[in-house]
Amino acid sequence: MHYRLEASDLQQLLDALKADGYALLGPQRQDNAILYDTLESAADLPQGWTDQQEAGQYKLKRREDAAYFGYVVGPRSWKRVFLPPRKRLWSATQQDGAWSIEEEPLPTQKVALIGVRACEIHAIAIQDRVLREGPYPDPYYTTMRAQSLIIAVNCTQAAPTCFCTSMDTGPNATFGFDLSLTELLEPDHGFVVEVGSPKGQALVETLGLPAANDPDQARAQAGVDQARKQIKRTLQRDDVKALLYRNLEHARWDEVASRCLSCANCTMVCPTCFCTEMEDITDLTGDHAERWQRWDSCFHGQFTHVHGGPVRQSTRSRYRQWLTHKLASWEDQFGTTGCVGCGRCIAWCPAGIDLTAEVKAFRESEHSQEKNKR
Ligand code: SF4
Ligand code: SF4
Repeated sequence: MHYRLEASDLQQLLDALKADGYALLGPQRQDNAILYDTLESAADLPQGWTDQQEAGQYKLKRREDAAYFGYVVGPRSWKRVFLPPRKRLWSATQQDGAWSIEEEPLPTQKVALIGVRACEIHAIAIQDRVLREGPYPDPYYTTMRAQSLIIAVNCTQAAPTCFCTSMDTGPNATFGFDLSLTELLEPDHGFVVEVGSPKGQALVETLGLPAANDPDQARAQAGVDQARKQIKRTLQRDDVKALLYRNLEHARWDEVASRCLSCANCTMVCPTCFCTEMEDITDLTGDHAERWQRWDSCFHGQFTHVHGGPVRQSTRSRYRQWLTHKLASWEDQFGTTGCVGCGRCIAWCPAGIDLTAEVKAFRESEHSQEKNKR
């Protein structure tokens, strides 16, 4: 069953969520990008703005219409809601020679995520497998996931960096949401709403939404089809794991390493990367200590530090680790690929390194070797 929400009633949806105790998080224009942050009202949404993306490029541009969700994805993924970039785990205080340890309390605030894209729902599902359903669940992550509600927005446009169609993750959400919206523009601005959970059904009933008519549903489908057609980047998935494993010593790794700055941007913006490190700090008196968890990256020199120094000393070995983990060994570990095709690592790489082009380079190299043998 699909429903119709008028654009002028979007605020009512946000108000209903607030009345139900949810803090709202959603897209907004900040620092010349569209970022997810605390949302007070529909007026905070990036209405009338879009993003232009290419390898190593991202910029905002005015749209000619009043679309609320007329952009693709920005550098800040939803993972920071469930796995914050930096969080204190515990603190310890010494008094009269005795130490007391206080664990950081788990969050209690319910959160509604507004504007989650299909590829991002797949990324959350990938992190769920590791941080919620794996052998070592993360208490903060599992608590926040249990307290979250997801309002998805189906993509009606794509960026040149997107390749979700290759990864079967978009452009429309098929699971993992409470409500999904497809924005309809002129002549009557509104949304086609799909219900994905009992919580979503309760919201639709609270708002008293009417059923969407057939023409509106056809317009919504046409919008998603348009996004699908706009996606030109591809990644051939069927044999990518074997392809990378066959080429672990290929000279291409040296070539890409000559461009890679080992800056870790790709892992910071990636919605599935989940590596963290621990940092222990004390104050000058020695009476207070804290343990913090913060995002780490396989591109950092000290990431593989064991006795005597880092195992992966070269950029070549770090890029190889990142790409083969994303597209090959992730499958061995977790049963799925580690990439959802959101394109963030392509847009936000200062060197414009594109993982789809790197995979193609290995494939083409094998093809030309085959030809030369004949
Ligand atoms: S590897 Fe790149 S394209 Fe794939 S999910 Fe991560 S940021 Fe997105
Ligand atoms: S691939 Fe690009 S974003 Fe990633 S570490 Fe290298 S230079 Fe930085």
